[in-house]
Amino acid sequence: MKIDVFTLFPDWFDWFLSQRHVRNAVDAGNELRLFNYRDSTPLGGGQVDDAPYGGGAGMVLRVDVVDAALRAAYVDGREPSRVLVLAASGRQLDDVLARELASEPHVALLSGRYEGIDERVRDHLASDAVSIGPYVLSGGELAAMVVADAIMRKLPGALGHADSAVEESFSEALEGAPEYPHYTRPASYRGWNVPEVLLSGDHARVREWRLEESRRRGADGSGED
Ligand code: SAM
Repeated sequence: MKIDVFTLFPDWFDWFLSQRHVRNAVDAGNELRLFNYRDSTPLGGGQVDDAPYGGGAGMVLRVDVVDAALRAAYVDGREPSRVLVLAASGRQLDDVLARELASEPHVALLSGRYEGIDERVRDHLASDAVSIGPYVLSGGELAAMVVADAIMRKLPGALGHADSAVEESFSEALEGAPEYPHYTRPASYRGWNVPEVLLSGDHARVREWRLEESRRRGADGSGED
């Protein structure tokens, strides 16, 4: 699949693109491309924002600038199947949405900055607005990385162990519940013991225990013990 990120700070993604699972996904034929709104702005002097109508603090990313960036990126007519504007007030990202997005052939992520993006982008240029949580970040770049990461780890070939993304927190395999706890050596440390069942070698009991722990964490609501 293709993920296109529109941003004023493409350099932020250098680190992200260098991460192994992202490189794996790219090596497996997926793409993560970056587009800088400034490279295609129709305004002079690299302008991309303006003061908000009605007054108030901060600047707003202009609709004509975002439209120009999309037109320039998709001049070949190969438009994304979903265009997501990143906004604190959008639909909250969860595993259901991540799965939905991972099944798309081509997704664009529009990062905002400053006070936000002109609402006409959300109304006319985007298919959805997505939030990574009920708090405000300084810009959409980290949100774009979170969304891209949640998608990419679901793509075949991204993870070292393909099964890792099948049975994990909130997956269908665990009926949407948080994952069960994991332990490794030593079996006993400072008197803190690994649950006996995990040392038993009885795969059926281990499986039953794990599903029960997952359900219990889900019922708690917090995912915490
Ligand atoms: N004035 C906006 C508000 O009160 O919701 C906050 C704007 S924020 C400083 C700038 C940009 O960061 C937003 O346009 C959006 O792209 C991104 N952003 C901030 N918080 C986000 C979140 N929780 N999820 C997704 N994107 C977010």
